Amino acid sequence: MHRIEAISREIRKIGFQCQQCGACCRGEEKASCVIVSPPEIDRIIEATGLERSKIVVPYPEYIESDEGRRFTFEWCLKNEDGKCIFLAEDGRCTIYSARPWICRTYPFALDGDSIIISECPGVGEAITPEEADALTACLLKRQEAEEEEEIAVEEVFSSHTIPMGKTVVFDSRGMWSIHG
Ligand code: SF4
Ligand code: SF4
Repeated sequence: MHRIEAISREIRKIGFQCQQCGACCRGEEKASCVIVSPPEIDRIIEATGLERSKIVVPYPEYIESDEGRRFTFEWCLKNEDGKCIFLAEDGRCTIYSARPWICRTYPFALDGDSIIISECPGVGEAITPEEADALTACLLKRQEAEEEEEIAVEEVFSSHTIPMGKTVVFDSRGMWSIHG
C-alpha cells in the first residue's frame, strides 16, 4: 500500500470533522504557539500587507549559552488576549488561504509514518475518503516543508556565531538579532 493510502486509511479510522469551536486558535489546544517558518511568514505578509514584526514573535523557549548569549529557533504567530491575532470575532480565520501548515493539519501531525493527535473535539467524527485524502496530502506536504526547514536551520546554526551578550533567533534565512 502506498504511504498516502496507509495514512489516509488511518485517519479515516480515527475520524475527524472540525466543529468550528476555534479552540485551536485560542491557545487552549495548540500548546503555546503556532510555529511558522520564513516561507509561511512571507505568505501571511503577502496576504495581509502587515510588517513581519506585527505578525510574529520569537519562539519563546530560549537556550542560554555562555557570555550572555541566548538563542531560540523559529517564530510563532502573535497572540493577543489568549488568541491568535488572526482570529475574527465570529470565529473565522482572517488569513484562511495563507494559514500555516499547523493550522491546515490540526489536530494531526506526522512523526515519520505515525500520526500524532492533539486535543480536539472533532476527533472521532466521520470523515469522507476524499477529506481524509486531502488532509493526508496536506500532512505530507507539511512534513516535507518542516524537514526542509530543519535542514536549512541546522546549516544556518552551524555557520553562525552568536555575538556576546546578544539574543538571537535562528531560522532557515539566517540569524536574527532581536535585542541587546
Ligand atoms: S480543529 Fe478541532 S479544536 Fe480546532 S476549531 Fe476544529 S474542532 Fe475546534
Ligand atoms: S492563523 Fe487562523 S487558523 Fe491558525 S491559529 Fe490563527 S486564526 Fe487560527
